Amino acid sequence: MGSPVFFATVGGHAKQGPLDKIRMLFEEAGFADVVNERDLVAVKCHFGEPGCTTFIPPVYIRKIVDEVQKRGARAFLTDTGCLYFSRRYNARDHLVAAEEHGFGLTSTGAPVLIADGLRGTDVTPVEVNLKYFDTVDVASAIHDANSLIVVTHVTGHGLTGLGATIKNLGMGAAGRRMKLAVHSQVRPSINPERCTLCEECLMNCPAGAISIENNVIVFDHDTCIGCGECVALCSERAIKVLWAGEAQEAQEKLAEISSGVLANKKDRVGFFSFLINVTPMCDCWNFSTAPSVADIGFLASKDPVAIDQVAADLVMKSIMMGGPEGQAPDAMTRETFLGAHGTAWNRQLSYAQEIGLGSREYDLIHVGD
Ligand code: SF4
Ligand code: SF4
Repeated sequence: MGSPVFFATVGGHAKQGPLDKIRMLFEEAGFADVVNERDLVAVKCHFGEPGCTTFIPPVYIRKIVDEVQKRGARAFLTDTGCLYFSRRYNARDHLVAAEEHGFGLTSTGAPVLIADGLRGTDVTPVEVNLKYFDTVDVASAIHDANSLIVVTHVTGHGLTGLGATIKNLGMGAAGRRMKLAVHSQVRPSINPERCTLCEECLMNCPAGAISIENNVIVFDHDTCIGCGECVALCSERAIKVLWAGEAQEAQEKLAEISSGVLANKKDRVGFFSFLINVTPMCDCWNFSTAPSVADIGFLASKDPVAIDQVAADLVMKSIMMGGPEGQAPDAMTRETFLGAHGTAWNRQLSYAQEIGLGSREYDLIHVGD
């Protein structure tokens, strides 16, 4: 028997709108057992880089906060700073960005606290003794919280193909040392014969690591943070990365970091995944693209591996079915989810299962109409 994963479609009617379904999922998945009275509950979100419009809207987060707090616990919304220079680079700017996107005490019922502190150095080492890491730096506010609700927006991702719970935990709940370790292996290179010099990659590289020399795109590998997004952005498929080894290693590292994040949360963690606005790129970007598939719905589970397996299965099935007219997925969707590196996305799940994080076997239980 697999791990239970609860699923509600995105559609609704008068008595079962999407917010009712969030409440029903919270109840059915047994999250009331995760949060105790007076607990400090970290609600791990992604507030979206300013310019992105497809992050999970605060109205959904408010419903989750309400469910937590009506059980006498105290929620705070949290995320960590990012590796590269952006509006979420330090806690001060991150808080302003979150406020601009409507995440605050007034709108969500919970204050925002950046989990790894002002400059991303407030971390707690947790022993894991796994293949890559002996210890994992967990963002202290997440480590110190009594319980954790992880809210994940499922998208594509340049480095991991699929961006879901394990990526959310492994990247978003850890300190900078861990983020650097995940990205350190990735080295993009150019195929000049395919490149049209459109400069799309250059203009969007978060590290400023791309330039043009003698009419050829050049990567500064000392500056590159290995996010892999230039590969996903290039519609000419002119950028290559040795994904087979490197992306798989990055995914294994994400799973190990996730195990460190969850080490002190046994029976104290619940996972929500939102399969709405499933874009080829994650919410770290300062723009949004069209979604890759029609909105699917919401998932809840206590197993981070099972919930990601369901998310992947539902998204892949939707991509294969095509859009309303049965059209093929667009180039960016194909490259991210199904392309040369995208097909390797399932390593994050197989390795997470190997190290005991959860099970890829699941029982899908429908909730609501
Ligand atoms: S996005 Fe692709 S085609 Fe455009 S400049 Fe970069 S590598 Fe060349
Ligand atoms: S992987 Fe590409 S987009 Fe990311 S930092 Fe390196 S050069 Fe820039």
